[in-house]
Amino acid sequence: MSKYVDYIIVGGGVSGCVLSYMLMKHGADVVLYDLPNENISSSVATGLWNPIVLKRMRKVWKAEAMMDELHNVYGDMEKWTNSQFFDPIPIRRVFHDVSEQNTWTELCDSPSFKEYLDDKIVPLPNGIRGDFKSGKMKGTGRLKVVHFMNAVHVALKETDSFREKRFNWEKVHRNSEGVSYGDIKAHGIISCEGAQMALNMQSIDQKGFSPVKGELLRVKLDKSLHNECIHQKYFMLSEGEDKISVGATFAWDGFLKGPTREKRNELEQHLNTVWKGSFETEEHLSGIRPATKDRKPIIGPHELPHTWIFGGMGSRAILMAPYLAKVFVEHLMYGADLLKECLPSRF
Ligand SMILES: Cc1cc2nc3c(=O)[nH]c(=O)nc-3n(C[C@H](O)[C@H](O)[C@H](O)COP(=O)(O)OP(=O)(O)OC[C@H]3O[C@@H](n4cnc5c(N)ncnc54)[C@H](O)[C@@H]3O)c2cc1C
Repeated sequence: MSKYVDYIIVGGGVSGCVLSYMLMKHGADVVLYDLPNENISSSVATGLWNPIVLKRMRKVWKAEAMMDELHNVYGDMEKWTNSQFFDPIPIRRVFHDVSEQNTWTELCDSPSFKEYLDDKIVPLPNGIRGDFKSGKMKGTGRLKVVHFMNAVHVALKETDSFREKRFNWEKVHRNSEGVSYGDIKAHGIISCEGAQMALNMQSIDQKGFSPVKGELLRVKLDKSLHNECIHQKYFMLSEGEDKISVGATFAWDGFLKGPTREKRNELEQHLNTVWKGSFETEEHLSGIRPATKDRKPIIGPHELPHTWIFGGMGSRAILMAPYLAKVFVEHLMYGADLLKECLPSRF
């Protein structure tokens, strides 16, 4: 028997999960296809959100709108799934020199930054080595991403809206009304396949992706770290008691190699420099961020009929996905404008 839905969503990482929820919230029926075991980005992501680019001390594109939507959407999704994955925690910036500290102090007086930066300059926490002090960010946190995705997949399964299967684009039939795929008929298909769109020949063709590999370590320290994230070139994120995640690295090649000795050394050397005690690496993970050539997401119609793309969020999907899903769903459901700078046709 055929199942009729408004949209088939391909890919159940952060993008596909947030978009599925947002479409359903606006009354659309969806079916989500995903292969959780082949997820190469969301499943390793640390899940931090932060409206400031710490390296350059400037705001992320559309930071305010994204921060507003983030709180609404993940909060609602916790209620919908009856789970807890939204975890506000401070991010602490460790200053490398006096000028970084001065810039921080100046920005604390600026109306557009003061909401996000605490104006107190504070000593480094116990165990952390550094020549300068630190400042704390406000309104930051982390989404427990694997827990989040699992909760969404379970909620979708309850309404027969989740298929743990590879979606095969070659088996899609298109006509003037929409698409059909196996037993499903739909108005359209939305690809949320992440970096797989750029790396996997089985996806549809889309230019503009420029994937970025990232590696991180899960480490046991000789003593516990306070529940926060410390940013000092790399981040050290408390995972409870004496466990932390350390990362993440950046590389523009070696996508098929998995975790590398070179990046593990890079991260362990960093820990040797900044951590006063001893540590033991327990796990080493790698993933591939769905970044794009101009660092803007890719959202809008694909050149194939009844087909859209929602992705390309690079290293900021947690912050970006809720706002971008809202804009996209308002376009699909009510004809609102898409963001011109994100259209797939720009490539
Ligand atoms: C080491 C590391 C740390 C990171 N830390 C952060 C962070 O702190 N904060 C942050 O915001 N971002 C972070 N990121 C980036 C973040 O992981 C990505 O922006 C985000 O996960 C992208 O989500 P996505 O859903 O677009 O793609 P993906 O996570 O790649 O999900 C795509 C999904 O689609 C599925 N899929 C693909 N093709 C098919 C098909 N044909 N059929 C069925 N299923 C299919 C895949 O199996 C996968 O589950 C990090 C990334 C890395 C690598």
